[in-house]
Amino acid sequence: MLKFNPQTGENQAFCRACALFYQNHKGDLEKHVDRTQHKQNMEKFPELLKQQDRLANFASPLRDRITNLELRILAHICENSQSVCSAQGMLEVMQTEGNDPIFKKATLGYTKAGNLIREGW
Ligand SMILES: [Zn+2]
Repeated sequence: MLKFNPQTGENQAFCRACALFYQNHKGDLEKHVDRTQHKQNMEKFPELLKQQDRLANFASPLRDRITNLELRILAHICENSQSVCSAQGMLEVMQTEGNDPIFKKATLGYTKAGNLIREGW
C-alpha cells in the first residue's frame, strides 16, 4: 500500500507485514516480496495474503496487451514524425471497427506520449 512517510515527506510503498517503507520501484518491490523475511511476516497476516492474491490477478494479460498496443502506436508516430492527434484519430477508427477489447481500452494521452518521447521504454 502507499503511505505517507514522515521521514522522506513522500508517499511511499509500505509493507504492512514488515512495517517498512520502500522506494516506489517495481523491481525493488518484487525483490522484497520474494525475500524470506517478508514471506515469514506475511504468514502472520492471512488477510494480506488473500489481498495479495487478488492484486496478482489485477495485473492481467489484457492490461499488458493494452500497454503494448499503446507503446507500439506511440513508437510508430515517433519513428515517423507524426502527431499524437493523428494517432488518436487512428485509434478511434480501431475502437469503432475493432472487436478486440484492447482497442476499446487503449488511450493515447499527451502525458503518456510525452513520457515515451522523453524517456523511451
Ligand atoms: Zn514485507
